[in-house]
Amino acid sequence: MIAFQLSAWAESILIYKMTNNIRKSILLFGGTFDPIHNGHLVVAQYVAKHLGIDKVYIIPAAISPHKLDKKITSGQHRYEMAKLATRGMDLFEVSDCELHRPGASYTFDTIYHFEKKYPQAKLHWLIGADCLEHLHNWYRVDKLVTHCTIVTASRPGFRFAVNKYLHDVLDDEKIEEIRSHIIATPLLDISSTAIRECISANKDCSGMTPAVILEYIGQHNLYRN
Ligand code: ATP
Ligand code: MG
Repeated sequence: MIAFQLSAWAESILIYKMTNNIRKSILLFGGTFDPIHNGHLVVAQYVAKHLGIDKVYIIPAAISPHKLDKKITSGQHRYEMAKLATRGMDLFEVSDCELHRPGASYTFDTIYHFEKKYPQAKLHWLIGADCLEHLHNWYRVDKLVTHCTIVTASRPGFRFAVNKYLHDVLDDEKIEEIRSHIIATPLLDISSTAIRECISANKDCSGMTPAVILEYIGQHNLYRN
């Protein structure tokens, strides 16, 4: 029911913008999504509504630059799970652009990909508050922020503030833009790590991710070791 109302609302914004020739707004949401969970889905929908976004792209990373030392599930499984979790929701699209790119999945390259795909659109990049703390270390962040707006969602346990080191790489105006796009989203204390641990301990994970994802995990025997 909620999904239906949200997709009807997204559709009406899109029709309004198309008929009035208004620039399309796109929210790009990258991550490992190993697996995708309700925290991802709820904050993305909340931010999309808050900013009047036309389309949210979930973008599973091939190799996250922040997780080079970690073992992750195949891109195919993570992509399939993102597709399943957003099935029937018009607001969402899942992109495999990072999965087809060799090497580490840099946001900078992904923004370039979407700029070419949607030259007229306004691009936003969504992160959780945990990522905001490390933004100063991101690859070419000074250029990145000139091509998209960084939008930050709340995450339990993480500060809602820009790191002082960001001043070393960005000017005050850009930092202010990032600050003004910190959005108090619903707090969901869910992580993919907790889901993986929960499954490997054979515990009940319902409520953390959609039931179809738990079914998929079971069918493919993921996270059991
Ligand atoms: P892991 O525990 O494996 O790191 P995760 O739950 O942090 O998984 P990621 O795929 O690493 O999920 O995160 C993708 C993006 O989603 C990041 O920007 C992260 O900050 C954000 N995010 C993840 N979970 C939440 C949550 N519960 N609330 C807000 N943002 C979240
Ligand atoms: Mg994470």
